[in-house]
Amino acid sequence: MTSIDVQHYSMLIGGERVDTDDTMTIINPADESVVATVAKGTATHIDAAVAAAKSTFESGAWSGKTPQERAQIMRAIAAAANDQVEELVELEMSANGATVRQATGFHVGYALAHFNFFADLADTYQFVRPAPVVSFPALAQSVVHREPLGVVGAIAPWNFPLLLTLWKVGPALAAGNSVVVKPDEHTPLSMLKFAEIAEANGLPRGVLNVVPGDGRDAGARLASHPDVAKIAFTGSTQIGREIMKLASGTVKEVTLELGGKGPSIVLDDADLDMAVDGVLYGCFTYSGQICESGTRAIVPRELHDEFVSRLIERAKTIVVGAPDDWDTDMGPVINAKQQARILSYIDGAKAEGATVALGGGKPDGIDRGFYVEPTILANVDNSMTVAREEIFGPVLSVIAYDTEDEAVAIANDSEYGLAASVWTRDNARGLAVADAVQCGSVWINDAHQINAQVPFGGYKQSGIGRELGPDALDEYTQAKAVHLDLSGGRDAKPYDILLSHADD
Ligand code: NAD
Repeated sequence: MTSIDVQHYSMLIGGERVDTDDTMTIINPADESVVATVAKGTATHIDAAVAAAKSTFESGAWSGKTPQERAQIMRAIAAAANDQVEELVELEMSANGATVRQATGFHVGYALAHFNFFADLADTYQFVRPAPVVSFPALAQSVVHREPLGVVGAIAPWNFPLLLTLWKVGPALAAGNSVVVKPDEHTPLSMLKFAEIAEANGLPRGVLNVVPGDGRDAGARLASHPDVAKIAFTGSTQIGREIMKLASGTVKEVTLELGGKGPSIVLDDADLDMAVDGVLYGCFTYSGQICESGTRAIVPRELHDEFVSRLIERAKTIVVGAPDDWDTDMGPVINAKQQARILSYIDGAKAEGATVALGGGKPDGIDRGFYVEPTILANVDNSMTVAREEIFGPVLSVIAYDTEDEAVAIANDSEYGLAASVWTRDNARGLAVADAVQCGSVWINDAHQINAQVPFGGYKQSGIGRELGPDALDEYTQAKAVHLDLSGGRDAKPYDILLSHADD
């Protein structure tokens, strides 16, 4: 593993490294050490980045390339990034505390594979779509062009800095747009590195600009900038609402990937060995800081106590520790504020009548870093705060149900609708429950399965639009219908509706 000295990172605007006197300090959540300093961009830097992106877009340096040329360059970028995978993993891990296993397989592994997926889409996407020839009201042919939008703004959270940013940058670039990225203030390093790799491997200057900075300053300017055609945002539902308001001033396109409160529905015929492991995997992976985590285990009342005992027994084997140790299962949470917030949710659950069956505090024997024990709350009612609000920490709430209909009703009784899992030995039952659940993704006998071939996104207040999937470029293009008259003469056309006496 490469070790990173405290290093300074500049912004990337129009192919230039840009610095400021004001810097942000990146702290390692595992030991509170300083990882790096980063130039802090403001609204003024966003303006410069949007101007650079707009001018590059208009120059045709990228937008004018054929989709196949774009695909080729994107594949070269992914290959070069893959050659530097260890550094990218280190940059992710040291800033957001993901374990080396998660950072390698999920945070960076998926990111580069998905970037290649978007390169393939550039190759196969139908940018020009002929419509059937019509003879009424006159012989004509229409052709639908899917054109790039122009400048796309991407605002990303800290939990998957590279992956969730490339879910926006990948399809935007494949479609020919230019992009300005505003990474989260805690985790801009991996995306700055990726942008550097991209420019070194054929991406024209100014196509991909990265401006780290505060959400309320740089982020808000990007979301409201008149020259930005679309904002693609991943983050909390609360900020998602803000983004919609900011984008409305110039009627921008918006995609929002927001929060979740995922149900893991255990049916009474489930293979309990698998369901116990699967529910823990669904909730505690990356310390519960995944939007699609299964944070509500919904279990048959008659199995509640046995299921909780099995969860406890298995969860005690989860190794909590240093993220860079390949034996560590669970690392820290992102920062001290979030650690305190998670612990206060646990206190609140106790006050509301839930039982802390496991964990509930900071782990013994770790004095530095922002750790929270894997925590299991039993006897939770779906009306409790802990079952309604997104905690974004390693806290699993176990909720009992009496009938399958009630299980589905509890699952759906949430303002969120991002992802769910169903645990059963009977595929037909699993599929029937999947039909009834109001979520954008449902995994039967699995969790966290992010397949680039299928769309990802939320029902209800978990978001608007979808990322990934075969139609991913639709979100980064707009349709232009071009009508070509084939009738060849004035008399063949319905002009007489207006002009019947024109020759009189
Ligand atoms: P957040 O909403 O606080 O911040 C996300 C980004 O928005 C950051 O870059 C931040 O700087 C920026 N921002 C903040 N205020 C802004 C403003 N007023 N204008 C413009 N930008 C602003 O979210 P977070 O705490 O970083 O991330 C955790 C949240 O993200 C959770 O709610 C989680 O569920 C959600 N999430 C969703 C998905 C998904 O795909 N649905 C994936 C990962 C995370």
